[in-house]
Amino acid sequence: MKKIITSLSSALLILFASMSLTTVAKSAEFFTIGTGGPTGVYFQTGNAICKMLHKSAISADHGRKKGTAKAYRCTAPSTGGSNYNIGQIAAGEFQFGVAQSDWQYHAVNGSSKWEGKQYSDLRAVFSVHNEPFQIWARKKAKIKNFSDLEGKVVNIGNPGSGQRGTMEELMKAMGVDNSFFKSTTELTSSEQVKALCDGKIDAFGYSVGFPNGAMEQAATCAAKASPINLTGPEVQGLIDGADYYAQAIIPKGTYTKQKKDATTFGVKATVVTSADVSEELVYLVVKAVMENFDDFKKQHPAFGFLEKKNMIKDGLSAPLHPGAIKYYKEAGLM
Ligand code: GLU
Repeated sequence: MKKIITSLSSALLILFASMSLTTVAKSAEFFTIGTGGPTGVYFQTGNAICKMLHKSAISADHGRKKGTAKAYRCTAPSTGGSNYNIGQIAAGEFQFGVAQSDWQYHAVNGSSKWEGKQYSDLRAVFSVHNEPFQIWARKKAKIKNFSDLEGKVVNIGNPGSGQRGTMEELMKAMGVDNSFFKSTTELTSSEQVKALCDGKIDAFGYSVGFPNGAMEQAATCAAKASPINLTGPEVQGLIDGADYYAQAIIPKGTYTKQKKDATTFGVKATVVTSADVSEELVYLVVKAVMENFDDFKKQHPAFGFLEKKNMIKDGLSAPLHPGAIKYYKEAGLM
């Protein structure tokens, strides 16, 4: 008898254990937002979105959206950047990603690096901060403009990053290739500052929001680096030739000892997804950010200028995802 009771209770135990396992599996859906290097602004952007989503989910119903059995759980790992993120979304590995407006355009239109690989299911969610394209040079290298980069050691960025692609577009516009430099490196955004501070490279190109801690480090380490001006007819040609580029200024005083404005061209950081991602999930992500907007803006100083009405149109060339449209209409933004 004792034996029967024991085996009965262990059978029940197994039953309960497997029941609770399936409940957990059914109630939480995990998804990923691709970001950029750990010291950049994309990493903060992705994690701020996750934070807002978890916050609004908890206040709604302990992680469950009312009327559904589902709770969404979000992670925002550091990645190689814009083009890597779009590629992972296309492969179904990531559900969202942060990407520069120029690479959003090229991916959905099959141009530039995306020629022959057009990804027409790319969808826009909203845009975020401005990203001036910056060339930071160490003081002793005496680099004042693009032509001074001739014969220098320059980090052109890791493959997959937005800055790598934009640097190549700039080089094309300037009519130069890698042989213009003494040598090039392909360091990631989090490796390049140390390399500049250690004198291993003379300059690096980076499209990133400001102000940010990594650039302040470049300004204050032994390199005493600063962003150079990128102006002239070639740069003007880039700005005039594409909606995803605009003139950009990093105002003097943004970084320690930055005595002059740095004038350059820039893009917008945007959040993108796939047409395959559910309307419910995109709606919840957008709603979480928009309904916790003041808190969201506090997550990074580069978000200080964000305005909802601009975020739903600026820098977006892929069609808006229906889940995003649903929220924007409901909130009277559209
Ligand atoms: N704009 C960069 C890229 O597309 C990333 C900048 C950042 O991490 O904030 O790869």
